[in-house]
Amino acid sequence: MRILHGTSELFPYSKTGGLADMVDGLAKATAKLGHQVGVVTPLYRGIREQTPALQLLDSRLELSMGMLSVSARVWTHQPRPNLTIYFIDQPEFFDRASLYMHNGSDYLDNAARFIFLSKCVAHLARHLPWQPEVVHVHDWQTALAPLLVRHQRDHDGRATPPRTVLTIHNVAFQGVFPPQDFGLVNVPWSYFTVDGAEYYGRLSCLKAGIVFADAIITVSPRYAREIMQPELGCGLDGVLRRRADVLTGILNGVDYEEWKTTGNPRLPHAYSATRLLGKNLHKHALQKEYGLPPRSDVPLFGTVSRLTDQKGIDIELGALEEMLSAPMQFVLLGSGSSHFVQAFTDLARRHPDKMGVRFGFNEDLSHRIEAGLDFFVMPSRFEPCGLNQMYSLRYGTIPIVRATGGLDDSVTDITEDMGQANGIKFTEYSSRALAKAMRKALALYAQPPLLCHYRGNGMNADFSWDRTCLEYLRVYERKLA
Ligand code: ADP
Repeated sequence: MRILHGTSELFPYSKTGGLADMVDGLAKATAKLGHQVGVVTPLYRGIREQTPALQLLDSRLELSMGMLSVSARVWTHQPRPNLTIYFIDQPEFFDRASLYMHNGSDYLDNAARFIFLSKCVAHLARHLPWQPEVVHVHDWQTALAPLLVRHQRDHDGRATPPRTVLTIHNVAFQGVFPPQDFGLVNVPWSYFTVDGAEYYGRLSCLKAGIVFADAIITVSPRYAREIMQPELGCGLDGVLRRRADVLTGILNGVDYEEWKTTGNPRLPHAYSATRLLGKNLHKHALQKEYGLPPRSDVPLFGTVSRLTDQKGIDIELGALEEMLSAPMQFVLLGSGSSHFVQAFTDLARRHPDKMGVRFGFNEDLSHRIEAGLDFFVMPSRFEPCGLNQMYSLRYGTIPIVRATGGLDDSVTDITEDMGQANGIKFTEYSSRALAKAMRKALALYAQPPLLCHYRGNGMNADFSWDRTCLEYLRVYERKLA
């Protein structure tokens, strides 16, 4: 099969969250199976310097944006056989210090930037010599591409136009803009209706994708059910219910070439489910790095996360307030909202021998944390898939999660099937419920053989892309049939 992805971030070139990891993992896994795969993504600042083998594509893109014409060069890179990355080089839009925002506010021209990216995806889908059969886009930033492909399909009479697939990684981000931005799309206003790209008088990029894609996937089965309900549908539940026949949930996979406990350049000490000494060394190194006493007799809890309301940070702060009087330690790596940064900083200042914090985005440190922790805390208010709980499982760290979305689909509680159980789950969204789950963790830590058993279950669980990508291929096949 021939598949072209469109994405606003792609690991290892650009990343603010799970989207980057997911597209990389899926693209690599499908290419490994022999399918031809392309990924269209912006050439953000710094990528050129980190990727010396870039090659310039012959033709330059020249695309209408309302009354103007915007041009871009396209650089290609082939990280492995069957996989080509198409970097869109449009410095005014993409040569910026960060991907989406500056000083906590979205860039004012995000509509233009990502309408342009969606146009590049649709244009390349039409003109690349290898003629992609499937155009697979991700989240609102490329979600206008299915509309553009539909428009091409209806107007240029091509015999076999590509099918389109939209993956929703988080329905809370929708790309909603003033109606006049629809003028930048250069398609008739008949698409801007309540049955099209219009959302209460405004342009909604994600809604356009939901309406016009041939198939819609979201990143876990439970989240697929949740977003069709008002509580978690973020205003799009009705539109999603209308497309329920083409909506599926597929749990993301993990790239075990990146997340492995042996032969991993990011982890100085190798370990496995049966030889956990290396994990202990990571714990001590982490305690040292965070200025905590290097103790083996207390469990080390921690979190790596964006610091936003979605991630349940408010109940985590409340639970820590209560739990830090118990024999435990806690470390944080996070970036985001300044009031959460302040709250964690204050808490750490009051408990210097029990809690350490680091702020910013640090890929290497996130691996050392996953390896060094005993328990990973992920109390999300909602969680489309979540990757960190699956990284934790592979690294022998017991996840403590709230039973929502992909967290519920990927973690089995220790009170359930002993042969599968690998984590601790709680349901009620409250500090009290999280603190209770953390107390269960303390009790588990006091029983090393049991702890070891559940760690083993987690480390041996298979969340690989090899398995997951077959589910995506089945969706593509159904649409092409
Ligand atoms: P989301 O995409 O909603 O942020 P996920 O759990 O799906 O949540 O994916 C988050 C990804 O981003 C993981 O790979 C996680 O390790 C990483 N991550 C989040 N915050 C940080 C940070 N401060 N430093 C390094 N990596 C981070």
